[in-house]
Amino acid sequence: MSAKKPSRHEITVIPGDGIGPEVMNAVRSVLQAAEVAIDWDEQLAGAEVFKKGVGSGVLPETIASIRRTKCALKGPLETPVGFGEKSANVTLRKFFETYGNIRPVRELPGIRTPYSGRGIDFIVVRENVEDLYAGIEYLQTPGVAQALKLVTRKGSEKICRLAFEIARAEGRKKVTCATKANILKFTEGLFKRVFEEVSKDYPEIVAEHQIVDNCAHQMVMRPEQFDVLVMTNMNGDILSDLASALIGGLGFAPSANLGDGASIFEAVHGSAPQIAGKDMANPTALLHSSVLMLRHLGEMKAADSVENALLVTLEEGKILTPDMAGGGREPSGTKAFAKEVIKNLGSAPKAYPKREYKKVIMPKVSHDAVMVVAKETRPMGVDIFVATAIDPAVLGPSVEQMIADLPVRLTQISNRGAKVYPNDLGVEADPVDCARLRFKVAHHGDTLSDKDIAQILLRVGAQAPWVHVEKLYKYDGVAGFTKDQGED
Ligand code: NAD
Repeated sequence: MSAKKPSRHEITVIPGDGIGPEVMNAVRSVLQAAEVAIDWDEQLAGAEVFKKGVGSGVLPETIASIRRTKCALKGPLETPVGFGEKSANVTLRKFFETYGNIRPVRELPGIRTPYSGRGIDFIVVRENVEDLYAGIEYLQTPGVAQALKLVTRKGSEKICRLAFEIARAEGRKKVTCATKANILKFTEGLFKRVFEEVSKDYPEIVAEHQIVDNCAHQMVMRPEQFDVLVMTNMNGDILSDLASALIGGLGFAPSANLGDGASIFEAVHGSAPQIAGKDMANPTALLHSSVLMLRHLGEMKAADSVENALLVTLEEGKILTPDMAGGGREPSGTKAFAKEVIKNLGSAPKAYPKREYKKVIMPKVSHDAVMVVAKETRPMGVDIFVATAIDPAVLGPSVEQMIADLPVRLTQISNRGAKVYPNDLGVEADPVDCARLRFKVAHHGDTLSDKDIAQILLRVGAQAPWVHVEKLYKYDGVAGFTKDQGED
C-alpha cells in the first residue's frame, strides 16, 4: 500500500512594499525549513500597483488568486498620501469581507517592557468592516462633517460568535465585550445586546461587559485580567494598538483577518521605508502572523514548531535585529535572525507557558439580508437637516406656519444634538449652520406618508436648503430613533 501523500496548501503571497519583501523572504525561508507543504502564488498589491494606475492598489490577478487559494500572507502595503486613492489594505478587507480582525497580545520572552513578568496574554477580536470605517461620510455644509456609524445585527453576531469560538479553540475562560453602549444606545447598544445573547450558547465561558473607556484604563492598569476582548471596529482599532504597546510595540504584533471566504494574515506594522533594503527589519510580527495562518490551516504541529523556534530565538537573544538589540548587544540583520530561527526549529522555550491550540471553528451565521423582522413598522415622523444659520427662535415659528395645514407638527429644532427650539430649558448652544428639524404626526398612532414628507421638504426647502432626511420609525411600537439632549 502506498503512503498517503501529505496535503499541500496553496497560498497567495503578497511581499508588499518597503521592508515587506525582506521580512517575507525571512518568513518563507523559516516555513520552508519547517517543511510545511506550501505552494506560494506570488501576487502584487500596493505601491507598484498604484503606479500602474490601478486606483484600488490591488490587481485583478491578486483578487483572483486569493479567491482561489482562500488564504493570503501579506507584507505591508504603502498607502499613497493624497486625495482619492484608496488603501489597498482596506480594498482587500472589504473585497473578501474579512470581518474578524484577530490580534493576539502575549508577552514575549527576552523583550523587556514595563509590563514584563506580568503574564499578559490576551486576544483582541475586532469587527473589521462595519462601524465608522464603512467610510460613509458627508459634508452637510462646508463646515459641518458627518460620518455614519453602521452597526448591524448580522455583523455583530458574526464577530461575537467568532470571539467565543476563539476562546473555545484556545481553552480561554472569559470574553470581555467593550462598548460605548451607555452613550450610543442603538449602535454600540446593539453590539452589546447581541454579545449577551450569543454568550448564552457558550455557557462554559464567562461573558462580561466593560465600558470601552474604562477598558482602555484597565488595559494599562491591569492588562493581565483580560483573556479575549471583542469590540466594534474603531474601538478595536484603537485598543488593539494600545495593547501591542504593552508587549513591545507594533513591530511585534501579528494579525489575522478572518472571513467566510478568504483570510489574510499580516503583521500590524507598516512598510518602514526608512530601513527598507538595509537588512534591518524585524520579521517577528510577520513570522508570528504566519503561525496564526498555519493554525488556521489546521497545521497545528508546524505552527507550534515555528512559534517555539521564534520564542527560543527571542529568549536566548543571541541574534537580534537592531530594534530588539540594545543593552550592549551587537545587532544582527533580518537574514541572520531568520537563520537563527531555522537553527532553533525543534527546540522549545525554557520558561514560557504552553498553550494547547485547536483549529478555530468559523461561526455559521445566516447570510439572509433580513435578520430581524418587526410585525409592525410605522413611519411616524421625519428629521430634516437643513443648512441654515437662521436663529431657531425665528426659524421655528416660520416653519410651524408653513406646515399648519399638514397632519404633522414641528416638535423641535436641534443643533449639534441639543434642543434649541423651543428652548424651554435655556440650552446655551454654540450653533453651527446645520440644524435638525424634527416633525412628528399630529395625532398619536397616525402614520406619516411619503406625500406629506415631500410637502414638508418642498416648503421647508424654500426657506432653508435641506441636506439630509431621516424617517422616524416605530418598530412594534418602539421608537427607532434617539432623543436629543433636552427632548422629552
Ligand atoms: P511603520 O509601521 O512602517 O513604521 C513605524 C516605525 O516602526 C518606524 O520607525 C519603523 O522603522 C518601525 N518599524 C515598523 N516595522 C518594523 C519592523 N518590522 N522592524 C523594525 N522596525 C520597524 O508605520 P508608518 O511609518 O506610519 O507607515 C509607513 C507606510 O506603511 C505608510 O505608507 C503606511 O500607509 C503603511 N502602512 C501599512 C500597513 C499595512 O499594510 N498593514 C500598516 C501600517 C502602515
